[in-house]
Amino acid sequence: MILSGANTELIKIILEGKELSHIFPMESHIFTNPARWEECKSDDSSNGDKKSAKMRLRVDSYIRKSGKIDCTVCHADEDLCKGAVLRQIIQQCATASKAISTEEKEDREQNDKTQTSFDRIVYIGDGYNDLCPLLHMQKHDFVLVRKGKALEQLIDANQSHIQSQVLKWEDGRDLLLHFQSIFQCVKF
Ligand SMILES: [Zn+2]
Repeated sequence: MILSGANTELIKIILEGKELSHIFPMESHIFTNPARWEECKSDDSSNGDKKSAKMRLRVDSYIRKSGKIDCTVCHADEDLCKGAVLRQIIQQCATASKAISTEEKEDREQNDKTQTSFDRIVYIGDGYNDLCPLLHMQKHDFVLVRKGKALEQLIDANQSHIQSQVLKWEDGRDLLLHFQSIFQCVKF
């Protein structure tokens, strides 16, 4: 899943460029500010009186879509609080998981690896707004933090509040090695 303070259009462009759109469906796996392109008509002196159409990106606030979030950690007023979003995802998964009977759950585990509960959370981040989610993670979860960025300093300053295991990375090779270590049974 992607939790981002950017917007849907920017993320769409990146995912399409990397051919990853099928892995992150917009409606179910991406939590960010909604955005859309809209026509911006303006006078163009080089075209005489003719109107020329330009496009501009209109970005709306995530909280207008999801409801106001009062967070005393990141103080998200207009912006998305990633901690609140992660907590919501965890609660929804736990509720859905309880609703499934044991028998159904066994079937689901055999047939569908996108089951409704998480074995663990592996969170990748680097910015100031990545601290909130870490406060909702447990001992068996992992945070992969980028070296030299704001989140690394925040973790150092808030170690007593963070239960998850912290691993550091500089580039994609480091991330791959961490994933191979965490998910030893999965082939990459
Ligand atoms: Zn927050």
